[in-house]
Amino acid sequence: MIIVMGAGAAQKEIRTVIARIKALGYTPHPIFGKERTVIGAIGDERGKIVLQRLESLPGVERVVPILKPYKLASREVKPERTVIRIAPGVTVGDRQLLIIAGPCTVESEAQMIETALAVKKAGAHVLRGGAWKPRTSPYAFLGLELKGLKILRKAGDRAGMPIVTEVMNPADVALIAEYSDILQVGARNVQNFSLLKRIGKSKRPILLKRGMMTTITEYLMSAEYCLSAGSRQVILCERGIRTFEDATRNTLDLSAIPVLKERTHLPVIVDPSHATGAARLVPPMAYAAVAAGADGLMIEVHPTPEKALSDGPQSLTFAKFADTMATLRPFIAAAGRTL
Ligand code: PEP
Ligand code: MN
Repeated sequence: MIIVMGAGAAQKEIRTVIARIKALGYTPHPIFGKERTVIGAIGDERGKIVLQRLESLPGVERVVPILKPYKLASREVKPERTVIRIAPGVTVGDRQLLIIAGPCTVESEAQMIETALAVKKAGAHVLRGGAWKPRTSPYAFLGLELKGLKILRKAGDRAGMPIVTEVMNPADVALIAEYSDILQVGARNVQNFSLLKRIGKSKRPILLKRGMMTTITEYLMSAEYCLSAGSRQVILCERGIRTFEDATRNTLDLSAIPVLKERTHLPVIVDPSHATGAARLVPPMAYAAVAAGADGLMIEVHPTPEKALSDGPQSLTFAKFADTMATLRPFIAAAGRTL
């Protein structure tokens, strides 16, 4: 249920409503908007009608059921867009188009520092790199783990960039959150509910990738797990879904961008690298994503893609990344955004 407070509701009235929600066995999630406060009361769906009584409390305008199965993620609860601050001057969800770039996997310090400086120069805001890698084969390179995380941090610091890396195991959340500005949940873990609950308790922004077979509703339910655990900072990322089409690694679901933006206040970014699996297809899909309203892009970049330990075929060289950033500019301007 959503408890919509009147425009002039006093702090004391808001506090009373919050206390009553708790007394009824529900968890209050107040959202302090510019004009009014709304309080989501989240909990057992079956008995929620008792919350209707709160309508008689002073300062309450109305009590309305949330129709969507996802609650805190929905625009019903929060019509204004969520803007997430990642580092000083780096945000997502507002006019600034967030650019995340870097290799699939952290391979060495030299590779990461070189990449950080190159992508920063070309205009990227956040450095990416996998330290714990979810690989289809257990015999593939599975990442440098803690050593890789420390290298990523060092490279980010050298270039003055915040970093993002994937977390696969709930037990690693605290450690990775010490080093990484953003915690990524990969496509394969989108319904790893223990991980979502644990990561939702972290103070770090979360980059939640869409699974290759999750519907938009299922995807928003996964975001809901993080939000219901306490996080207010979930960034969604469309990275291609599995279809019958095999000319590309996945099928980039461009329509997910406007659909997600209708349904949720959370920022939505696009990863054209995993979506297509081919470096030559990354620029056109990046343009299309920006045109469709994406709040950011995540692009794989490697100093020598032919030698990359993972995802080389979809990784851009430094020159190709710089070129993509330059040719992206008219699309960014047309979408009413800035870099
Ligand atoms: C990645 O970003 O490195 C990755 C593994 O992506 P996904 O989870 O989308 O496959
Ligand atoms: Mn990859």
